[in-house]
Order: sequence, then C-alpha cells, then structure tokens
Amino acid sequence: MSSRISTYRGVEISSEEMKAGRYLLTDYETELRYSWSSGVAIGRFLAGLKKAEVWGRRCDRCKRVLVPPRMYCELCFRPNDHWVRLGDTGRVNTYSVSHVNADASRREEPIVVAVIEIDRASPGMGILHLIGEASPDHVRIGMPVKAVWRDADERTGAITDIRYFRPSSHGER
Ligand SMILES: [Zn+2]
Repeated sequence: MSSRISTYRGVEISSEEMKAGRYLLTDYETELRYSWSSGVAIGRFLAGLKKAEVWGRRCDRCKRVLVPPRMYCELCFRPNDHWVRLGDTGRVNTYSVSHVNADASRREEPIVVAVIEIDRASPGMGILHLIGEASPDHVRIGMPVKAVWRDADERTGAITDIRYFRPSSHGER
C-alpha cells in the first residue's frame, strides 16, 4: 500500500549536486513585524517613563512596592492594591562589565550593565539598565545612582527613555 507521505518523500541532496548547484535556491528578504502586548502593569510603567516618571505597584498586605510593576503579588497570592510614584534614584543591586556587544563583537570601551533597585521599592528586584558617567572600576554594589533621561520630545514610552543611571550623591536624592 502506498501512502501520500511515501509518494512525496524528499530526496537528500548529494555533495556532488551541492557543488554543482543542482538544487533550487530561492533568495528573498523577509519583513517580520510583530506586536507585543505589554500588559496593564508594564503598559502603565512605560507610559510613566514617557513623562520621566517611575511608577511601582504596592501590595498593602506585605507592604512591598514592586518595580518593575506587576498587578499580582506572588507572595500574598492576590492582586496588589495601588500605584505608587517613585523617584528616579536607586542603588546598584548587581552589575556586570561587558566587553562585547549584543552580537558578540568586541567593544572598544566596556559598558556597565546593572540591576537598579529604585529607592522606596522593595529590595531584591529592579530594572536592568546601563551605568554611565562612571568608570567600570568605580562601580560598586550599593552605589547610589540617578536616572539620566532623554529629552521629552525623544521619549517614546520605552525603558530607553532613561539613557542610563549615573552615580549620585545623597544630596540629590
Ligand atoms: Zn503582597
């Protein structure tokens, strides 16, 4: 009994056929577009960034403020309660000095990528961002930092509305 599968089974291309170019090759460019729903919490967070504001969600039961925000408290197993506007200062939770770009090519100058705990948000969570205006040798865990924002007409409601975080002194906080 013959089946459709065996009727249309593929045939392996041999090395000789590859070298001789005896196969069908179609060259084309794709334009892949997609949309990503940010969800209620991150949508509100990004809208805040466009206005140079940092917002978190507070859970009244465990008293935590979540940044980046989410609508549900994973410790209390319940929806959390309200929005809280925070400042644009924080501390370095952890960091890494990178000598390569996202495509693994080597950089002339290293960049410092850090997790920033926003002040008044609960510790142990934060936003991943760049550290600027600081030599990698001077970045420390716990170092106070402040956001450097793009100009209002450049902000799009993205995490890159903050250019980077720079070292700050307590007087600025
Ligand atoms: Zn909670």
